[in-house]
Amino acid sequence: MTRGRARITATLLLSLATAARAQTQTGVEERRNAAVTLLTGEIEGVTGPVDRHCGIFILTGDPSGPPPATRRQIQAAVRCVLEAKRQRRAAWAVWQVAGVDATVFDGLALTRFGDPQRVEASGNGAALQFSPCLRPRVDDDGVIICRNTPVDAKGLPKAIERLRDDVRRGVGKEFRAVVDREAAQDSTAAGLSPDASFSATAARVREALRATTGAEWPICPLHRDHALELFEQHWLCRKDAAFVAPLGKLRRLRPARPLP
Ligand SMILES: [Zn+2]
Repeated sequence: MTRGRARITATLLLSLATAARAQTQTGVEERRNAAVTLLTGEIEGVTGPVDRHCGIFILTGDPSGPPPATRRQIQAAVRCVLEAKRQRRAAWAVWQVAGVDATVFDGLALTRFGDPQRVEASGNGAALQFSPCLRPRVDDDGVIICRNTPVDAKGLPKAIERLRDDVRRGVGKEFRAVVDREAAQDSTAAGLSPDASFSATAARVREALRATTGAEWPICPLHRDHALELFEQHWLCRKDAAFVAPLGKLRRLRPARPLP
C-alpha cells in the first residue's frame, strides 16, 4: 500500500459520502459497495483475501452525512473479528469515528494466523495505519482498547530484566551481559519515549547476538525464517502481526510447532 493510494481512497470516500446524500437507497447501496471495494484493496493488501467482512459502517445515506457507528455495532464487529481469529480466517471491519469528518475511521484487520491489528485513518490524505492489538475490547465511548502495553519510565528496569531472562533461557546465561551493555546506552537521551528507547535496546541486543552467534534470535515459531520483534512488551511476528509470547515468557511460545 502506498500513501498515495490511501489518500485517493480517503478522498473518494469523502466524495462518495457527499454524493450519497442525494441518492436513493439503491444508489447509496451501490456507492457503499464501491467504497467497500476501495477499502478492500487497501486492507486486504495486508490481511490477504477476506470472504466476509465483519462490518463497514459508512455511507448509510443519512441526509446530513454518514453517522458514526454505534457502540453496539463496533462490539459486534470486534466479536466477529475475534470469531474469525478462532477459526483462523482473515477478517476486517472499519467504521466511522464519532464527531469527526467523514474520512476518519477506525477498525480492525486480521491475517489468517495473526492477531488483530488496529486500522486507523486519521483524516483527509492520511495513510492507513496498522498497529498490532492484543485482545481488543470496546470501551464505554466505543473506542478500541488493546491489552498490549508500551513500556513507561517506571517499567523500563523491569522490561530490561525480562529481556535479560529471555536471553538467558534462549541463548545462554553468558549473553545476559549483552543486554546490560546495550541497555546502558540510554536512548531516552535521544528524545525517544521509554517504549521506543526499550525497542531500540532490544533491536541492538538482537543485532549483537546475531553478530556473536551468527544466528537470528528469537526465531519466529510460525514461519521459522525470520526473527521476532519486540512490540509493547510482547514478542511479535511482524509477518502476521501475531503476538507469540509476552516479554520474559519466550519459553511459552505459541504455537510450539511451525504452521503447515
Ligand atoms: Zn513469523
